[in-house]
Amino acid sequence: MGAAALQGSERIEALEPHMGTMFRIVLYADDPGAAHVAIRAAFDRVGELDSELSDYIPESELNRVCETAVGRDVRISDDLNTVLRASQSLADRTDGAFDVTLGPVIRLWRSARQTGQLPTADALAEAAARTGYRHLHLGTGVIRLDLPDMQLDLGAIAKGYAADEGLRVLRDHGFPRALVAASGDIAFGDAPPGKAGWETGVDSINASSEAFTEVLTLHNAAISTSGDTEQYVEIGGVRYSHIVNPKTGAGLTQRIGVTVIAARGIDTDELSTAASVITEQAGPAAALALIEQAGAHGMIVLQAGGEWKKYAR
Ligand code: ADP
Ligand code: MG
Repeated sequence: MGAAALQGSERIEALEPHMGTMFRIVLYADDPGAAHVAIRAAFDRVGELDSELSDYIPESELNRVCETAVGRDVRISDDLNTVLRASQSLADRTDGAFDVTLGPVIRLWRSARQTGQLPTADALAEAAARTGYRHLHLGTGVIRLDLPDMQLDLGAIAKGYAADEGLRVLRDHGFPRALVAASGDIAFGDAPPGKAGWETGVDSINASSEAFTEVLTLHNAAISTSGDTEQYVEIGGVRYSHIVNPKTGAGLTQRIGVTVIAARGIDTDELSTAASVITEQAGPAAALALIEQAGAHGMIVLQAGGEWKKYAR
């Protein structure tokens, strides 16, 4: 890599749909041709991760192990292993508030968002009987599941990991001044030329109120935002988020937005979702403690008594 490649005179931006959202890459380069080769490789890496980690793609590695690993050890890819290890560690630290085995319950709420009808108590009980992170066992490069018809769901961690991996590919190709964004999950590399970092607006939960909007300047860091501003269903005057509280079996009903900043997107993504659940279960102080114990920074905005409040650490 010559000095010229590090200078990065031209800003290049590219978009591509992956993982049910639009991925965005921004980088600074002196050689646009080489930059486009790097961007192609980064998007291909994200596509590869989708084919391993997606619960939407029927033949994904994730969906295959739900069938093949019942009662027996099945070898898994390094990527699936990495993401599941991080998930299980967080499940342990949150007493299962974060739980990638919630797939059957998550799917019921996904259809509720489409039909506008609440899942029945029977359906929820049947689905919940096929969940529980303690029924998922990781050995050295292998997975085993205790129950038939389990459904793993990495929707709260895969995009953050994919952003990290996309950024790594760009750096390996000689483009360290880059960012990879997957809607609410963004991984930042080295700062743009002549800048202290990448400027990013921290989403406030209530887009019309600018009171909580802040601009941060970040480099070699990741940020994730979880909230109910985009994906939710309102039934009978109650608003249910796409994030499920395993203790109630229902989508979160508290209006909340969580932003987490740490070194890696795999951590910020899973922590922002977990902190949303913990806030409903135990309050914002407990959620911020979880974030702090993970060596990350967090900001929580929530609606209490008709007012928006902000908590940060
Ligand atoms: P987004 O997908 O909007 O970026 P999140 O990162 O918070 O938001 O992930 C939400 C997704 O995580 C849900 O759509 C679902 O797939 C999954 N999920 C929901 N509840 C939980 C939970 N308690 N633990 C782990 N994953 C969850
Ligand atoms: Mg998340």
